[in-house]
Amino acid sequence: MPQEEKTAVSGVPRSEDRYDAQRIETKWSERWQQDASLYAAESKSTKPKYYVLEMLPYPSGVLHMGHVRNYSIGDALARYMWMNGYNVLHPMGWDSFGLPAENAAISANTPPREWTLRNIANMKVQMKRLGFGYDWSREVTTCLPDYYRWNQWFFLKLYEKGLAYRRKSKVNWCPKCATVLANEQVVDGCCWRHEDTPVEQRELEQWFLRITQYAEELLRDLDKLGAWPEKVRTMQRNWIGRSEGTLVDFKLDGGDDSPDSTISVFTTRVDTIYGATSVQLAPEHPLVARLAKYNDPLRNQVEQLKAEQRKAKEVGDIGAIEKHGVNTHRYAVNPYNGQRIPIWVANYILMDYGTGAIMSVPAHDERDYEFAKKYKLEIRVVIMPQADDPEETVTEPPLPFTTMRGMLVNSGSFSGLDCEEAIRKMSAYAEEHSFGKASVTYRLKDWGISRQRYWGTPIPMLYCEKDGIVPVPEQDLPVILPEKVEITLSGGSPLARVPEFANVTCPKCGGPARRETDTMDTFVDSSWYFYRYTDARNDRAPFDSKTVAYWFPIDQYIGGVEHAILHLIYSRFWTKFMRDMGLVKNDEPAERLFTQGMIIKAGTKMSKSLGNAVSPDDMVARYGADSTRLYTLFATAPDRELDWQDEGVEGIQRFLGRLYRVVTDRTDPSVGPTDLSVEKRRGPAARTLQRKLHQTIKRISDDFQGRWHFNTSIAALMEFNNLLSGTAQDISAGNIAPEDLAEAKRVLVLLLAPFAPYLAHELWEMLGKKENLLKAPWPKYDPALAKEEEIEIPVQINGKLRSVVVVPAGSAEGAILEAALSSEKIKAMIAGKQILKKIVVPGKLVNFVVR
Ligand SMILES: [Zn+2]
Ligand SMILES: [Zn+2]
Repeated sequence: MPQEEKTAVSGVPRSEDRYDAQRIETKWSERWQQDASLYAAESKSTKPKYYVLEMLPYPSGVLHMGHVRNYSIGDALARYMWMNGYNVLHPMGWDSFGLPAENAAISANTPPREWTLRNIANMKVQMKRLGFGYDWSREVTTCLPDYYRWNQWFFLKLYEKGLAYRRKSKVNWCPKCATVLANEQVVDGCCWRHEDTPVEQRELEQWFLRITQYAEELLRDLDKLGAWPEKVRTMQRNWIGRSEGTLVDFKLDGGDDSPDSTISVFTTRVDTIYGATSVQLAPEHPLVARLAKYNDPLRNQVEQLKAEQRKAKEVGDIGAIEKHGVNTHRYAVNPYNGQRIPIWVANYILMDYGTGAIMSVPAHDERDYEFAKKYKLEIRVVIMPQADDPEETVTEPPLPFTTMRGMLVNSGSFSGLDCEEAIRKMSAYAEEHSFGKASVTYRLKDWGISRQRYWGTPIPMLYCEKDGIVPVPEQDLPVILPEKVEITLSGGSPLARVPEFANVTCPKCGGPARRETDTMDTFVDSSWYFYRYTDARNDRAPFDSKTVAYWFPIDQYIGGVEHAILHLIYSRFWTKFMRDMGLVKNDEPAERLFTQGMIIKAGTKMSKSLGNAVSPDDMVARYGADSTRLYTLFATAPDRELDWQDEGVEGIQRFLGRLYRVVTDRTDPSVGPTDLSVEKRRGPAARTLQRKLHQTIKRISDDFQGRWHFNTSIAALMEFNNLLSGTAQDISAGNIAPEDLAEAKRVLVLLLAPFAPYLAHELWEMLGKKENLLKAPWPKYDPALAKEEEIEIPVQINGKLRSVVVVPAGSAEGAILEAALSSEKIKAMIAGKQILKKIVVPGKLVNFVVR
């Protein structure tokens, strides 16, 4: 609509005088889709680069509000950086392998690929309607062969380097389904589909990635990630779980010298080992099976312990398990003093944690104390508190006494040492006598990536009767996931039932071989996807290293805190492995990380199953994309939990309507005397407007640099808009010059652009601007103009002028009083006197009546 046709007729609203979100958003959405270069990163650029990334979604079919919040934050930042002259990379993709597609295949009888691609298409439409500025030319879809072939390529490289290996490991197995269940498919110890069938633990050969080889570096480099949330770094530290201690080998009394008769324990407190009164084994410890082999009662008791342990694991809190144990009536020998101590099996010891065996020192450990009390085991004190005062008599401490501030007693030649020194000397002693050594252990385990599933990346390995494990030759990649596969979720890996897939010829000997039919954990896909964005169509390599060197590290990564551990540790590992391969130069994938808060409604998490999910489509239809997005940014700070209120979105829509009216208002400003420059003509009203303008630019720019409290940025926009809408009289009276008014409107639209891009683009065009708003420079503020105007206030004592203080214009009574009372002159004059009365005339004077 050409602007000239519209003349303001006051009091008669016309359709285009009202903010019509649907009309504006449809128009711009279509324009943006016609111009693929609009949001594209430049491949050759002299501009500084900026890589802003939101975590890619799983294509479930529809976006939820949590996505909208995540992407609105990232999109605001991308637009801000574009306007600041950066070459911005802002891509999007799909984490599109995984179990839900298989479930859908069964329930809706749709092949996983079809279901997934349809969902992607739907969600892409939603994203475009919401106006997120993505570079779709770099879209990554992890379930397509052009992507997953590189998962396979990386796997071969990991295998070459000894970082991928195969070993037996436990899986959840439903005997009725005859298949492996994911942890989340185990409900109360039973199969999710067979509620009366307890899940069994089965040993299967599985592929592992040796992430533990990087444990130390993954831990140490957390110190480099100062721009990651402390919460995330702490979670990773705990997950990696480094502890320093001592490995000590106890021998089975009456056993031989073989490793089978050795019980290795890891302890952080070897200084207490003379107080060990039992050794405790995990029910799964290999020695337990041996001891119970000809002992039926023991075997039954151990089975009971295993069951208890499994149940506790499913509830997820093994720490809270009620501790049970059984005495094997066999003994282990403490290598420090030759003492025999009983061997127990306990339900709270985990085989996959440490060595699966501990020494129990009840006098100096909470848990051991509790256990010893319950089973009436011996409690022997070997650490005494150190007296602060040497004269003080030290008495036996209340038990358990667990601090390190103590001295060894009853500990043979080590008695008299303090705890720390004892740990050093006793570790060295163990090493000298070949029964142990100082050691560091990690809680972090190697990453098991085998899934007995269909919808994932096929693991590129073959098994030949003659040659054993044979990797698929690189030139034979990709190993394509076959399409017509019957998915039943039972009877093992679906791929194993596809003979064309499973039966192959061995590339080494030409004989018959079997293909690996497990697929990879989907966390493999997301471990390196963000590198692929930089060079998404490369069919000769996962990416070009030079291109990656330009874009990496990611400047800002944004996503949910639920990915703090797995995804963010795996992708850090993958980066370090690629660096060691020489593919990338950066040690860490992302310089800065931001985790947005969750969205709740009426106090609970929004979820489809609870029926309280708010649909982005509904919100967009009712209020428009801009209002929906702006609301997710305005309701609270982005890192906080957001309690959704539909009325809040409505309120935002009203604000945008007011802003639309203010910017499009065509009341002709009176020009005033034109023989003076704008600066000379600028009266108080114009100066107030100018000051607020620069303050608003400052507040919003600062927030992008700092805390990202976009809620206060948007509040600043609202304040500025209010001020502008209240100036109608000043404008028609000529107190505000047309140039100043035009500048105020121009800046208002620029400041709105990162948060409500559709409306901002529309208004920009309506203001007659030809250049693309996305490339328009972000406004700069002048600190001098942003500064509050100051006034002088005379301060009297008993009616006599004694001092003058300077305060910001419009200061409240309290602030003026405070300024007056902190004046050195006034302080000195009223020192020791009693103030009877404080009189403040705001903007005029202060008078203290004193005696
Ligand atoms: Zn089942
Ligand atoms: Zn062979």
